[in-house]
Amino acid sequence: MTHQHRHLFAAVGIHPHDTKDCSEASLSRLQSLASDANVVAWGEIGLDFNRMYSPQEKQERWFIRQLEIAAELKLPLIFHERDSRGRLLEILKTVPDNQRQAVVHCFSGTESELAQYLEMGFYIGITGIVTIRQRGESLRRMIPSIPSDRLLVETDAPYLTPSPQRNKIRRNEPAFVREVLLKVADVRGEAPESLANQVWANTCRLFRLAL
Ligand SMILES: [Zn+2]
Repeated sequence: MTHQHRHLFAAVGIHPHDTKDCSEASLSRLQSLASDANVVAWGEIGLDFNRMYSPQEKQERWFIRQLEIAAELKLPLIFHERDSRGRLLEILKTVPDNQRQAVVHCFSGTESELAQYLEMGFYIGITGIVTIRQRGESLRRMIPSIPSDRLLVETDAPYLTPSPQRNKIRRNEPAFVREVLLKVADVRGEAPESLANQVWANTCRLFRLAL
């Protein structure tokens, strides 16, 4: 599909939820897909101890294996982290790689985790959670401390529909990323246009897009 639409790109990877079914065979299939020029990242990979759709041991094993593969392919990473109680950061420290480029997508961590991600040079992906009154409270507090050259916005569609669409339309869609950007600009006290330009530049830099 990415070949029919000039502005669509893809990432490949086994999500932590699905690591119970992961194998070297499935990863080598993804490795061959990754040779396509429209595949610009490896992910989502990471740890999710909130839903526990796969056992912790499998999540960790296949997360580490995919870090190795992405490093060989020199692809930036998209991390999914939810309630990993510090394990994601511990693993990243035991598998160091000073070339590692990544976004912590749908960031939902603590201030200390945010500081460590930034220290590691990662980008921080903000979703519609920022627009949600209660759930977005701590995120809104942390957003001003993210350097502008490390900020990305996203929807995580079809999940996490931002306000105000949240009240009328249940399913999230990519067009609603606008609401995320507007809220982030508001929280940071920045003009939406200049923030949009900055986020665009960050996106192109991380995924090495020449648009
Ligand atoms: Zn995710």
